[in-house]
Amino acid sequence: TSPAPTAVSHHWELVSRPSGWPVPEDFRLVEVELPALAEGEVRVANAFVSVDPYMRGRMNDTKSYTPPFGLGEPLTGGAVGRVVASRTPDLAVGDLVSHDRGWRDVAQGPAAGFRRVEEVAGLPSSVHLGVLGMTSMTAWVGLLVVARMQPGDTVFVSGAAGAVGSVVGQIARLRGAGRVIGSAGSAAKVALLTERYGFDAAFDYHDGPVVEQLAAAAPDGIDVYFDNVGGEHLEAAVEVFNRGGRAALCGAISVYNATEPPPGPRNLFQVVGKGLTLQGFIVSWYAQEHGAAFAEEVGGWLRSGELTYDETVVQGLDRTVEAFLGMLRGENTGKMVVAV
Ligand code: NDP
Repeated sequence: TSPAPTAVSHHWELVSRPSGWPVPEDFRLVEVELPALAEGEVRVANAFVSVDPYMRGRMNDTKSYTPPFGLGEPLTGGAVGRVVASRTPDLAVGDLVSHDRGWRDVAQGPAAGFRRVEEVAGLPSSVHLGVLGMTSMTAWVGLLVVARMQPGDTVFVSGAAGAVGSVVGQIARLRGAGRVIGSAGSAAKVALLTERYGFDAAFDYHDGPVVEQLAAAAPDGIDVYFDNVGGEHLEAAVEVFNRGGRAALCGAISVYNATEPPPGPRNLFQVVGKGLTLQGFIVSWYAQEHGAAFAEEVGGWLRSGELTYDETVVQGLDRTVEAFLGMLRGENTGKMVVAV
């Protein structure tokens, strides 16, 4: 193989750490020249880049399960694209790959960082960022492995019209949940939950105290809670849980931009008398052991039409920050992606 010529890439950088809600001025789009490909490297033209809630945490200078983004360095994140130059026998020009060098149009690096993924007939490659990718695996492992949902359980999902939540509700239904309840942030999303994703009941968390709306939707209590939101939602779930209830604590988006600690949950003592299990998890911990089973089951449901999905696609790399902020505000239904 011979080194491909240099190429131009555009990437986003973080220039200042947001305090509270990020603003466009915290980011800048930079043009760089990529060096000629070294032996063992590939160059990929990204088709879609992902914007995800966890990225907000990486913008803070605090220790977490992933290190903070560096100031003045390219931002990273999930992406899917096509190999345009290769100096490795493992990947050929034209291969579709999934990788973590998002927030840019052209990615380049050692082949080990790029994973070949299948083309799915009739579906855009963005499905590898959502319904066949990380967010959907999060739904599957959180519900089935972490919360150990059993047939007949009453399941409550917050953030239910988003990438993770919309799949949680459908998996619960497909795996025999007795009743599936979701919360989301608008009347249109609430309608979608019952009409398209098969939830039995749904409510808009803006319409009144979550605990009251949840108790009304779950007259016999809940057995499983899939928490994407934290704060008031988690407190409500603890209140409405039946004995032996299990919560998969997946995220707490209601507090990601908060400058003050959240007011709750204030009722954790109920964990004792109800024998509750509240378990946090990070999807990557489960990928090795459960990735194949997830892909087989969810891929099968997708092909058979039993599972559906939505994407909100923002056009243009230059609108990535807009897409990220829009996702944090709830402008997405299903997975938010940027078409490069
Ligand atoms: P979503 O597609 O659900 O997008 C985020 C959604 O959050 C918005 O659409 C918005 O919907 C909702 N939201 C924003 N602010 C609030 C608020 N104050 N209260 C309630 N809802 C709010 O994102 P993902 O599906 O990618 O992620 C969902 C959750 O899962 C996040 O907490 C994320 O951090 C977590 N996650 C965790 C992983 C893990 O390994 N543990 C892996 C992947 C995701 P609405 O209009 O309904 O308000």
